[in-house]
Order: sequence, then C-alpha cells, then structure tokens
Amino acid sequence: MEFLDPQLEEYATGLSTEPSEVLQELERETWAKVLIPRMLSGHLQGRFLSSISHLMNAEHILEIGTYTGYSAICLSEGLKSGGHIHTIDINEELEPMVSRYFAKANIQDKVTFHIGNALEVVPRLNEEWDLVFIDADKVNYSNYFDLVIERVRTGGCIIADNVLWSGNVLEEDPDTDTKALMEFSKKVHEDARVENVLLPLRDGLMMCRKI
Ligand code: SAH
Ligand code: CA
Repeated sequence: MEFLDPQLEEYATGLSTEPSEVLQELERETWAKVLIPRMLSGHLQGRFLSSISHLMNAEHILEIGTYTGYSAICLSEGLKSGGHIHTIDINEELEPMVSRYFAKANIQDKVTFHIGNALEVVPRLNEEWDLVFIDADKVNYSNYFDLVIERVRTGGCIIADNVLWSGNVLEEDPDTDTKALMEFSKKVHEDARVENVLLPLRDGLMMCRKI
C-alpha cells in the first residue's frame, strides 16, 4: 500500500519548502546504495520534523533510529543555538555515511551519533528532552516510550513514526511488528501523562505532548 495517493503526495510535496542540497544528495545516495531506502523520512515528513523542531526551539533532541541521518539533519535545523541532538543506531555499517553527511550539513558539533542498542544507550543519557523521535525497531516502541517519558520536560514532545505500518494496523491477523505498533498506540493514547494525536502523515506519526 502506498503511504498516500502518489498524485496527492506529489502535489503536497511540490507545495512544501525544498529540503537543502545536502538532504537531497543524502536521499539520492541512500536510494542508490543503502538497503531499504524507503525507511528514509523524505521531503514531506522531513519538512514536518524540521517545522516541529523550529516551533519548539528545541534545545535537547533525542532520535532513536538514525539510519542514514536524514531525519536527524531535519530535526537539527530548528535547534536553539547551543542545543544538541543525540541520535542512536544499532547498525555500525551506517557510521561512515552518517558522519560524512553530518559534516556536509555542518552539524558535527551539535550532534552525537551513538552506535549501539538504543535499549542500552537511552538510559545512559542524562538529559531533559524537549523532543524525542522514536523510529527504530517497532517491537520496542513501548519500551522506548517508557524509558524516555519521565525524562521529557512538561510541554515536551515524543513523536513515533510508522504507526500506521502501511495500513497493516487494520489487518485481521496482524504480525508481530504490527501488533507491537498497535499496542504502542493504544498504550500512549491511554496514558494520562500525555495528550496525543495520530497524524496520518506518510506512514503515520504519533505525536504525544507531555502535560
Ligand atoms: N529515522 C530515519 C529512519 C530510521 S530506520 C529516517 O527517518 O530517515 C530504522 C533504524 O533503526 C535502522 O537504521 C535500524 O538499524 C535502527 N535500529 C533497529 N533496531 C535498533 C535498536 N535496537 N537500537 C538502535 N537502532 C535500531
Ligand atoms: Ca520511519
């Protein structure tokens, strides 16, 4: 299933600010060289993440699931001066490409790229987060939420990607990842610590604001 009707996607994309040259190059190189390129956030979702970080004037951002660095660069665009983004990925093979693009985007001083299992890395980071983007292994979304929620400031935001899972959340016999995503969405919806909205942007973004 397409995320959105392709013509509507093209229309929406055409009327959204162009990503930087570096982001366009990173998207092309990811599609040419890296496995599962559709995991990359892309033009529309990237502009959304950039807008949110700008609107929040975020100082401390955490990203779980770097992949080739596209969403991290988008999130970094709105960082307050002196702010910092931590991003984590378990796949060490991505490191050279990610570091090269963080340098090209000139964010090497405001980003820390952690290679490792986010379940182990997140508890070691002693920040009070303004913005957390959850986008790694789907079976652990609920665990990531539990690990960060008490470290998100009041008014801070947790955004989780792919919560519609290409529409699989409507299937009668959902597989393990789909079930995990469905349980995650239900759990945060019932959590009185956050107000949430499931935005059907691209593959579905669950936005939770800490109250
Ligand atoms: N945020 C990126 C896409 C992330 S794709 C973007 O929008 O462009 C998901 C990533 O999660 C993959 O690169 C995968 O290696 C990583 N991942 C999977 N399990 C993980 C874990 N336990 N800890 C950290 N990263 C993990
Ligand atoms: Ca994703």
